[in-house]
Amino acid sequence: MADSSFDVVILGGGPGGYVAALRAAQLGAKTAIVEKDRLGGTCLVRGCIPTKALLQSSELYSLAKGGGEFGLVADSIAFDWAVAQKRKTAVVDQLVKGVEGLLKAGGVTVFRGAGRLGAKGTVKVGNESIQAKDIVIATGSAVARIPLKGAEHTIDSDQILELKETPKRLAVIGGGVVGMEFAAMFAALGTKVTVLEMLPQVLPMVDADLVNVYAKHLASLGGVIHTNSKVAEVAKSKDGLQVRFSEGSEGGSVDADQVLLAVGRAPYTEGLGAEEAGVKLEHGRVVVDEHLRSTATGVWAIGDVIGGIMLAHIASYEGICAIENIVGRADRIPDYHAAPNCIYTDPEIAHVGLGEKEATAKGLDIKVGRFPFAASGRALTLGQSEGFVKVIAEAASGKLLGAHIIGPRATDLIAEATLAIQNGLTMEQLDLTIHAHPTLPESLMEAALAAQGRAIHIPNKAKPSPPRGERSGSGAQAGSPAEADVSAPVSAPAPAATSNAAPVQNREKQMVASVKPPTSPPHPKAITAKDLELTKDNREFLLGLHRQMQFIRRFEERTQEQYTKAKIGGYCHLNIGEEATVVGGIIPLKLTDYIFTSYREHGHAIARGIDPKAVMAELFGKEAGTSHGRGGSMHMFDNDLRFMGGYGIVGGHLPLAVGGGWAVRYKKEKDVVFCMFGDGATNIGAFHESLNFAKVFKLPVVWFCINNRYGMGTPVEAASAVADIYKKACAYDMESIQIDGMNVREVLLKTSQVIEKTRADSEPRFIEALCYRFKGHSVVDPDKYRSTEDKEKWRKADPIVAFEHELEKAKLADEEYFKKVRMEVDAEVQDIIRYADESPDPKTEDLYKFVYADEWEDRPELHGDPL
Ligand code: FAD
Repeated sequence: MADSSFDVVILGGGPGGYVAALRAAQLGAKTAIVEKDRLGGTCLVRGCIPTKALLQSSELYSLAKGGGEFGLVADSIAFDWAVAQKRKTAVVDQLVKGVEGLLKAGGVTVFRGAGRLGAKGTVKVGNESIQAKDIVIATGSAVARIPLKGAEHTIDSDQILELKETPKRLAVIGGGVVGMEFAAMFAALGTKVTVLEMLPQVLPMVDADLVNVYAKHLASLGGVIHTNSKVAEVAKSKDGLQVRFSEGSEGGSVDADQVLLAVGRAPYTEGLGAEEAGVKLEHGRVVVDEHLRSTATGVWAIGDVIGGIMLAHIASYEGICAIENIVGRADRIPDYHAAPNCIYTDPEIAHVGLGEKEATAKGLDIKVGRFPFAASGRALTLGQSEGFVKVIAEAASGKLLGAHIIGPRATDLIAEATLAIQNGLTMEQLDLTIHAHPTLPESLMEAALAAQGRAIHIPNKAKPSPPRGERSGSGAQAGSPAEADVSAPVSAPAPAATSNAAPVQNREKQMVASVKPPTSPPHPKAITAKDLELTKDNREFLLGLHRQMQFIRRFEERTQEQYTKAKIGGYCHLNIGEEATVVGGIIPLKLTDYIFTSYREHGHAIARGIDPKAVMAELFGKEAGTSHGRGGSMHMFDNDLRFMGGYGIVGGHLPLAVGGGWAVRYKKEKDVVFCMFGDGATNIGAFHESLNFAKVFKLPVVWFCINNRYGMGTPVEAASAVADIYKKACAYDMESIQIDGMNVREVLLKTSQVIEKTRADSEPRFIEALCYRFKGHSVVDPDKYRSTEDKEKWRKADPIVAFEHELEKAKLADEEYFKKVRMEVDAEVQDIIRYADESPDPKTEDLYKFVYADEWEDRPELHGDPL
């Protein structure tokens, strides 16, 4: 039986539920999902995906039928519904499998069966009882039913997807999105389609001018739309079915082979035990507050089941918001003002933001710009020039309020407008963006220009707006037929190129904004056992250590990803599992002490206090890096922090540390040289020479061996005659100890004591910290040489988890706190990656700068041809 106690349990595996589960797992929550049917929910199994797969078939059929014009020669084009159905099923299966795989890879436990809310914090699945700190209801929606005489003769959107053959005549009751998509699909396949809609317009949420284009297209395929028509009855007739309806004061009837009842969807909470568990329902939907909390403590709800905008991407978005509120203790309030709505009819329709009527009704002073696809070069090459783009903007500021598109790939085109509206961009910012030619998005730019009276490829109706500071001219749609019609003058381009960026206003509260920077533990004086006791007095310091370890781990995990994306070149070594050794070893040093290290330098650099942004930028090879992008993962250097990374050869920095020790002695200072290396470095002559030299000349060097058991892929026992490395130092009559490198408090205390002794008597000493690395030696090391049992054994001693247990037991922190830290650290590291990615590369002519001890300019003997 699976483990039955979780941080988060999600009920329903649709696009709301499974996305929420993945995000929760990403944030470190122990997560389970309960699904009674197939993972993927309505969207994957009965909604978005199967309909779009079939619509692709019908679109291809239409295109092929019109192919003669394009030079396509095909004698007889026919449509095989069974094959289209088979393809649809294959697409659905592949995606469902994909979701299963993602959940498995994310470590999410899946429970199969119907879930029911039990006593507080409990979910029942069959006889099984699951404990959850938080529960998310994502049970979606089901086909809505209306009391209609003869409804039993109708089919719903689930059933129509399983038809064995296309009907000759289809009546569609309901002119909403689902009904209109099926109407478009079957009309394209030759079915005689009749739509019956009670309201004055089908697709009531769409601006009327767009609907007119759709209705015209449907009519061209023989489709008929009756609006203001109320269906009274569906009855059997001698050759099929008959739908009787009233249209105004008139009555009418339609004969059909199939009748699709598409009157919407209703939130689904059947069998959930919602109200018994204190979850308030209103008209069947779960009532939530602005943070997506239901009325029962610890129970949240997202997606179709809460009503509102019932779309897949909204369900996913709400899922992420809710999880970040739960696990990340964020303060996310969903903001729907830029929620796009896509309708996969022919032509496609998409809109976002305010409609024209809606904006006027709100009393807003608006500008409207329109651009027809008939004037788009790309639309004409595609042979799909029906439709237009319409933008609505605030007259005074030019801020985009809405975009409405009907035409080819409208559902893809809406993305640019969505981005603009979400971020409060203006029409000017849209049209100042260079749009590739010939592309469909040029039409959005032209519509924005048209609203300002400056369209290039259509005559302008609006008065042109005055010239502005920055004008780069419009992206050309050379050769489009409307070009010749341009009659309105446009303002001349001004040469100056100054920024006109309006302040970006993203109303969404992104999580990164609420995140605190990671706090480094303070650099204390000499650390005593008292400083490390698990008491309230030491809480801040201890939590700082924990945070630092967590931060280094996340930094490394993300570094590994960036390496696999080829953002980081060269080699990339990993410290994962060694955090206690690294943090515990470096924290006791004073800022005037020197660190000599190599290879796994990024974690060492962060523990030393080098800005993690500069560390990541260094890995990315950027000018903002701590070695100005010249060092990469093996050559990190920071003069101010006396961080002497920078020697790539295994063990090659040990003699350098000896040199450092000499310098300190020579200057008669009380600094300590701390030399960090792995066990692999202890098998070379330089190691022995360095230890010998340090001892003979009484140099203040602390040798710190991070024995993670494997030098590259070779176990210590196989590589070294003396497996206890600290004993090697005894051969030089050097005080030498072995410590538990998985225990941060032990590393700190013992290392601090050794450092202070060396500071006092300038005698070299040796520390061997026994730890374990959880990943291969580097990103490219497949790590096949270690047994699974070995890895498992050590994972149980994970230094971060072990420290968390100690803190928890001492009541200094709890799981909520650790989650919060993980979340904050994650967001911080994401920010750091963004910073590194956006930082400039070093200039080619400056590449030799900072490579030598003096500035390049001061070393004429080094000049020559740098490349
Ligand atoms: P759902 O996807 O409905 O998932 C809920 C899941 O919960 C289901 O798998 C269900 O089996 C499960 N469940 C319910 N009760 C329980 C329980 N007690 N225990 C365990 N499991 C339970 N949206 C778009 O954005 N784009 C489109 O193109 C689009 N096309 C559509 C076409 C059609 C024909 C239909 C019907 C819908 C379409 N939608 C589309 C809407 C979209 O499918 C939904 O908005 C979306 O699936 C809602 O996601 P959800 O996670 O809230 O719920």
